Amino acid sequence: MKALIISDVHANLTALEAVIEAAGDIEAVWCLGDLVGYGPDPNDCIDRICTLPNLTCLLGNHDAAALGQIDDDAFNLEARTSLRWMRSELTPSHMAFLRALPEMTTEEKLVTLVHGSPRNPVWEYVMDLRIARFNFEYFTTPFCFVGHTHLPVIYQYNADRKLLAYDIPLDGDKIELNAQSIINPGSVGQPRDHDPRAAYAIFDTETNICCFHRVDYDVTGVQKRILLAGLPVRHAYRLSEGW
Ligand code: ZN
Repeated sequence: MKALIISDVHANLTALEAVIEAAGDIEAVWCLGDLVGYGPDPNDCIDRICTLPNLTCLLGNHDAAALGQIDDDAFNLEARTSLRWMRSELTPSHMAFLRALPEMTTEEKLVTLVHGSPRNPVWEYVMDLRIARFNFEYFTTPFCFVGHTHLPVIYQYNADRKLLAYDIPLDGDKIELNAQSIINPGSVGQPRDHDPRAAYAIFDTETNICCFHRVDYDVTGVQKRILLAGLPVRHAYRLSEGW
């Protein structure tokens, strides 16, 4: 089975559509949370994601914040501004969709899916080797897909040899997962690795090959809509810089 893995869409419908078109035929979609926050299209992104085949969707920290599950003070001033805007935009049915999302799940005893980390599914950033190493204790499937940092990365741990390796996958990289792995596909709607193109991955559950991809989208159009919505200018600016 070929699964499309997306994360951190962040209410950017234009980027999401570009990813769906570029991904082509896929049999399942694993969405790792943060559907909302920062961008101008929270309801439309949820609607579009709900049309995707065999969807599994996780709860992210921005989704939890939209639901009021996290204190606003945990976010910086600009994030708080966009949270308030988002809460006024989201309809009751879209709120209900977010409320039903799980924090952690597994697929086919093969992969664990979370937004942050298996140790702290909604909040922890797997940012370095140390954090990755400790997180290998917290899932039992061969592979775990995470989002949250908006940075594509892959950590592979060989427990017998006590060897932890990592790689920064680039557009077009096909990586065969041959040890227990933590994989981040990067962010669809707000990449932070200084490459403004939307990021996603496609995982083949038969071959355990994970393909990483980037796709261009109309960043300028999204920036205009962010400003029109009255959202912070920085949310618009950062999209063209990819941070
Ligand atoms: Zn995010």
